[in-house]
Amino acid sequence: MTFDRRIFNFAAGPATLPEEVLKQAAAEMLNWQGLGASVMEVSHRGKEFMALYEEVLQDLRTLMEIPDSYEILMLQGGGLGQNAAIPMNLMPLAKNGPKADFLVTGVWSEKSYKEAEKYGVAHLAASSAAEKFNTIPARSTWQLSDDAAYVHYCANETIGGVEFPDVPDVNGKLLVADISSNILSREIDITKCGVWFGGAQKNIGPSGVTIVIVRKDLMGHSMKITPSIWDWSKQAATDSMLNTPPTFSIYMAGLGFKWLLKQGGVKAIEKRNLEKADLLYNFLDQSSLYENRVTKEYRSRMNVTFFLKNENLNAQFLEQSNAAGLVALRGHKAAGGMRASIYNAMPLEGVKALVEFMRDFERRA
Ligand SMILES: *Cc1c(COP(=O)(O)O)cnc(C)c1O
Repeated sequence: MTFDRRIFNFAAGPATLPEEVLKQAAAEMLNWQGLGASVMEVSHRGKEFMALYEEVLQDLRTLMEIPDSYEILMLQGGGLGQNAAIPMNLMPLAKNGPKADFLVTGVWSEKSYKEAEKYGVAHLAASSAAEKFNTIPARSTWQLSDDAAYVHYCANETIGGVEFPDVPDVNGKLLVADISSNILSREIDITKCGVWFGGAQKNIGPSGVTIVIVRKDLMGHSMKITPSIWDWSKQAATDSMLNTPPTFSIYMAGLGFKWLLKQGGVKAIEKRNLEKADLLYNFLDQSSLYENRVTKEYRSRMNVTFFLKNENLNAQFLEQSNAAGLVALRGHKAAGGMRASIYNAMPLEGVKALVEFMRDFERRA
């Protein structure tokens, strides 16, 4: 399938970006800031890039209301890189040897849990694996340890479409949140977690840069084996430029932040995200062909998973939606079915077009 226009792209990541952002990047591609070169071709230590970098951090600080007691790091290696970096940086804070607690609510938190086992004791405090990751275990069943350095959770499970409605209550223990797929989609109180992290490629910009927001007192306790590029204190001391940073990804993330500020910031986009998610879930709930299997209160606003009750229609559904310019609706292979990722940059019109298509498909089925 080839297109001569922009599609509605429901991919989970890399994901759709605002058209204005892409247009600005295109307009500046050959000559950025009158330097006669693109932003990709100039030194990360030059005054133009350094000024851009400061502005990118400031804009993120404004958008997420990040207090000065937190450092913002712009790293490489993705969310998966941080799955290793977090235990290496934080597990030594545990009182009886390296240890952390994990709330496993889907594929991503399970990966974090498995990776952490290499560095210390990873304790499974709760898991919804037996419920096929369609829910979040009841708070009363969580078995938090007394001697863990921190509790890890994934705020939005991108594959299952399961999202924590609030930051979980862990009796004041140190919390670490994977916000790869819902960063900047809703208002959060930064002070409720010690560390927030995620790659940019879902809700911000292209892949290549990983944002780590870390409370300053949590840095400087890393294991000796920690690679320097993932040692938060070393990165903080060098403006995340211990080595060459992903300059183009940082520039694009910056354009994404400016775009979001222009939309009215996180509060305004959260309202729109709710409207989009409600539209889609309300449609699914009244349909006799489609179903969402996630416990209602934990449904993701970003990744809406659904199944066709007649699975024989899956191939037709994908082929026809694709032909209509509604692209990348196939669910992750670990979950099956369908998934519509409706991040910040997906306009309401895209969700309306999807619902119209699905209604029509159901009528014809
Ligand atoms: C995509 C994703 C990851 C993995 O991110 P990478 O940048 O590819 O390493 C981790 N956690 C969640 C919740 C994700 O959605």
